[in-house]
Amino acid sequence: MSDEMETLTKLEYLTAWRTWRVWMSEDGPTLHSVATSASLGTWTSCEAMEARCGYLEMNPPACACNSCPGDNTLCGIYAYKEAPKTVQHEMGMVGQVALWGTVIEHDVGFRGQYAYPLNFTHGHCPWCGSKSKPKLLTLKEVMVVAPETGEGWLSWVCNKHAPKALAQSNALDSGLEPRGWVVKPGMEVVKVIAEMYQVEIKT
Ligand SMILES: [Zn+2]
Ligand SMILES: [Zn+2]
Repeated sequence: MSDEMETLTKLEYLTAWRTWRVWMSEDGPTLHSVATSASLGTWTSCEAMEARCGYLEMNPPACACNSCPGDNTLCGIYAYKEAPKTVQHEMGMVGQVALWGTVIEHDVGFRGQYAYPLNFTHGHCPWCGSKSKPKLLTLKEVMVVAPETGEGWLSWVCNKHAPKALAQSNALDSGLEPRGWVVKPGMEVVKVIAEMYQVEIKT
């Protein structure tokens, strides 16, 4: 066995949690980081996501490390230690992620150098906000508002709030050719995403 092979078989990673936004187009779904610009935050299927300076949209924008994530910087691929039950991001699909390379630990999470999704577990309805009601819905419970044709960001929503989310998507869709939004069972949509990214679904 060559040295290189030996290294590959010993690869280890750390498991953490995060949220993605999902962009649906005619080519299929793509995962995006929540807090970044679409171009910087695209997760390519079957390819490790790599941390870069200026990964976050910040002003002033960037650190300039030799290798990200730096010790006292904000760059890196963010992930939580626990499933983010009180996640504040809208349009979120939640799952576990593998982090490797340089990983810097913080109180609630990590900043990693490389990352790839491991599995998808929940969706997050932005209208379910009370403390008594968990915001995370299993993929069996969650609904998705998706463009019927063309492209757009998916909205993850509970059954009760699906009509409201659908009305909002249609109202905001003021393009020359309205896409026509539809509500679909979350699992139906997640299966397509999971296949594209070769990732497990965990319910
Ligand atoms: Zn950096
Ligand atoms: Zn809801």
